[in-house]
Amino acid sequence: MSEKFQTIVIGGGPGGYVCAIRLAQLGIKTACVESRGSLGGTCLNIGCIPSKSLLNLSEEFHKAQNLSSKGIEVGEVKLNLSKMMKNKDKAVTILTKGVEFLLKKNKVTYFKGTGSFKSKNEISVKDSQNKETLIQAENIIIATGSVPVSLPEIEFDEKVIVSSTGALNLKQVPKKMLVVGGGYIGLEMGSVWSRLGAEVHVVEFLDHITPGMDREISNEFMKILKKQGINFHMQHKVKSIKKNKSGATVSTVDKDNNKKDFDCDVVLISVGRKPNTNGLNLETIGVELDKKNRVKTDKNFRTNKDNIFAIGDVINGPMLAHKAEDEGIAVAENIGGQSGHVNYDTIPGVIYTSPEVASIGKTEEQLKGLNIKYKIGKFSFMANSRAKAIDNAEGFVKILADERTDKVLGAHLIGPHAGELIAEIGVAMEFGASSEDIARTCHAHPTFSEAVKEAALSVDRRAIHS
Ligand code: FAD
Ligand code: NAD
Repeated sequence: MSEKFQTIVIGGGPGGYVCAIRLAQLGIKTACVESRGSLGGTCLNIGCIPSKSLLNLSEEFHKAQNLSSKGIEVGEVKLNLSKMMKNKDKAVTILTKGVEFLLKKNKVTYFKGTGSFKSKNEISVKDSQNKETLIQAENIIIATGSVPVSLPEIEFDEKVIVSSTGALNLKQVPKKMLVVGGGYIGLEMGSVWSRLGAEVHVVEFLDHITPGMDREISNEFMKILKKQGINFHMQHKVKSIKKNKSGATVSTVDKDNNKKDFDCDVVLISVGRKPNTNGLNLETIGVELDKKNRVKTDKNFRTNKDNIFAIGDVINGPMLAHKAEDEGIAVAENIGGQSGHVNYDTIPGVIYTSPEVASIGKTEEQLKGLNIKYKIGKFSFMANSRAKAIDNAEGFVKILADERTDKVLGAHLIGPHAGELIAEIGVAMEFGASSEDIARTCHAHPTFSEAVKEAALSVDRRAIHS
């Protein structure tokens, strides 16, 4: 006999576990099924958290090497990579265990195993010993996330040809690392290994990095990364990757058909991720996918089957943990009889390099495409006293506001703590604020956030410090 729940969530990532907790808070008897053996999904196990740990530690290493220029004399700075990796693993363990505790605290029943549909109301859960448990529910939420994409006919071995998962676990610093794809993963992981001593080359298909980002920011970002020693090969296509004794040879061709081979010890393929619907048995129950194999949903996250919903990386939209979480909360609230909602215009994107890059709302390119007239306010961290005081003054804040109403339409930052500063703009946009509202808000001195205020002032051409 199968145990009965009101809702089953398949997948224990930031979409799934947050959704399960919110359902339980609303008094709904909930089960969460996770196949990985630990909760937190891609984000906590092999994504956001381990990558941010390594980004931080590699930055500390890099800073420590340069302390003497700041008047702090230390002995020789040496890297102990295995200890660094243990530090990262510790952060992952603490956080994944924390999620398990949260599920327990909220009385969500956690099933360890792979879930697949038996019928539209019944899920089979198979554990690592292949033992099957059947569970039933009125509503089922698919939150099975995404997996890395490779290049045609190239398989990850996670040692020489790696996805982000392998790049988070290298046993030694590669002498030379080739990164295919200049997006979020390529630039974050490229920065980590470059700071730890690797010669990093990024091969990118387009003529710019981080597609979709405001172009002015993307250009500045590439300039700064180049200065840090990362090499870029734009408008290059990978033709083949051949493994050899010392690593691999990557053969590329540029837009003019010039061929170039790169010998390297590690190749990171970071050309995007694809939705993960493997093994769910969606075909049998007839849940529809879209052209990109994402689970197709309406604006309330409902699939073509009335009682089946989907959220997070497995559906349309940016593949970001906070987007998955907000969708999890919205769908839980809808099921609980409330009016869950996600505002896709105010989902921030942050790249945790040094400096950080953060973005929210519309880019200049999008506004032009939509024929919306806008004003620009810009302020450089070079003129921000806190940034100058600590010698961390690269980058700028850019605010885009409606030409007629002054409503903030987007903001794009590159600079110190950009990932934290963007939250202020998010709140402002949620409240429909104008750039003047930000400009007239008192910001503490000396803080990086004054650069946001000055950029807002600059929309009206009245910045004080530039
Ligand atoms: P996932 O986190 O992928 O979780 C889905 C879970 O479902 C997985 O644990 C999987 O094991 C489980 N599952 C799949 N199929 C089944 C099944 N049949 N039965 C049971 N369980 C199943 N995003 C950010 O916002 N900020 C960042 O800094 C960031 N950094 C990243 C760094 C890297 C290297 C990577 C790879 C991603 C990063 N992301 C980041 C993206 C972020 O991890 C994802 O957007 C987020 O995890 C998506 O959440 P999700 O719940 O939809 O899916
Ligand atoms: P991405 O979409 O961010 O970047 C992929 C890059 O690869 C693009 O620049 C694209 O033009 C390029 N590309 C595609 N095909 C190519 C080819 N054949 N040859 C050369 N270049 C090619 O993808 P990603 O870096 O793999 O990351 C996947 C997703 O994970 C991201 O989109 C993001 O949603 C999420 N993520 C987020 C964070 C964060 O929030 N800080 C960090 C890591 C990952």
